[in-house]
Amino acid sequence: MLSVEEARASVMDRIERLEPYRVDLLDSLGCVLAADIVSDIAVSPFDNSAMDGYAVRAADTSGATDAAPVVLRVVDHIAAGRVSSVLVGEGEAARIMTGAPVPAGADSIVMVEHTVSLDNAGSTGGTVAIGCPAVAGDHVRLAGEDVRVGETVLRAGEVVNAASVGLMAALGCAQVDVYRRPRVAIVSTGDELVGITDAPGPGQIRNSNSYSLAAQVLAAGGEPHMLGVARDNEADTRALLSRAPEFDIMVTTGGVSMGDFDVVKDVLEQIGVLDFWKVAMRPGAPQTYGTVGGTPFFGLPGNPTSTMVGFELFVRPAIRKMRGFGELDRPRVSARLAEDVKKKSDRRYFLRGVISRVAGVADADVDAPSVAPAYEARLSGRQSSAMLTAMHRANCLISLPEGLSEVAAGTIVTCIRLDEEEGTP
Ligand code: AMP
Ligand code: MG
Repeated sequence: MLSVEEARASVMDRIERLEPYRVDLLDSLGCVLAADIVSDIAVSPFDNSAMDGYAVRAADTSGATDAAPVVLRVVDHIAAGRVSSVLVGEGEAARIMTGAPVPAGADSIVMVEHTVSLDNAGSTGGTVAIGCPAVAGDHVRLAGEDVRVGETVLRAGEVVNAASVGLMAALGCAQVDVYRRPRVAIVSTGDELVGITDAPGPGQIRNSNSYSLAAQVLAAGGEPHMLGVARDNEADTRALLSRAPEFDIMVTTGGVSMGDFDVVKDVLEQIGVLDFWKVAMRPGAPQTYGTVGGTPFFGLPGNPTSTMVGFELFVRPAIRKMRGFGELDRPRVSARLAEDVKKKSDRRYFLRGVISRVAGVADADVDAPSVAPAYEARLSGRQSSAMLTAMHRANCLISLPEGLSEVAAGTIVTCIRLDEEEGTP
């Protein structure tokens, strides 16, 4: 049996980033940029007002107070989107709105709150009383303040977030190059499976794994394709597994353990390459990995929680690597185990757990050796791999190392956060 690390390294060595492709701007959200984004314009493209107020020559306003304001003639009224052709001269001001270009002659903006409109001051021809002195540059946003012409604004390898989408929109990038999302084929195996809209007959269960897997593929940023159910015979299984080369990844569930009708491994050996099929872990030791026609193939075990844990540990990082992500690991946090746990000593355990903050312990204290971790972890329910309810309640996998057969309450354990994305600090 391989260790989890050996299995994972052997999988990840063989996974390659997919080629870049061009998508509409909004479809790049959450993807990894394949090329730098260089601006061909300045943002903002012109000097503009940061406030609603009056564009003035600062020198004209020196000494102004509420009691003794400076009165200026209003020579224009500039809305955002209009370029004024007026030159603001000595003793003059222009009414100006946020985002409007600063008119020639003016060097500063006085907020409307510091002015008193006298004689129809909102319109050209009126006058305005300025109640405080301006300093040149006040409330003026300079051209290129945010982005300079020729500046590299986003770098290849970055993950696109909502602000990057906004920046690229400002730069006129209607389409961008990102690494492609893998197309992931999902095959369930089992004579006992019926569709989710069917009422299970005697001995039958609904095919839930295809759905939990498709959801995990979506959450990892892949494109799920449910190919249906292969019955537990070689011909049926071969028919579906041989479709792997149409996809970037194939994931199957069930049919990889020691049962008389577990044919996935045999079929994989016939039509592809089997790299390994047992990993020293629980749940889900029969983690099968290989290739069919060059397509990475993951044969996950059938028990619903084993399927999901196997996906989490092996398939999710593979999808992320294909998508160009550098961060492939979920955040790991140390926590104090809240209860005694018995285990088989030859396996790594991934128990479904709930991790929570311990009241009164600050993160900053945790580095001091005498201080307890800021988190504790308890089991989220019964740990049978056939039961999905504890997985549903879990926000972490509690990882218990090989070599131990009992782990006592109070032991510091490592938890893999399922509720936080890779790369979260
Ligand atoms: P297997 O690995 O094929 O021996 O399956 C192990 C257990 O998981 C059995 O109890 C199966 O009935 C169950 N199982 C297998 N595939 C699915 C599936 N697609 N959805 C729900 N349960 C499944
Ligand atoms: Mg089966």
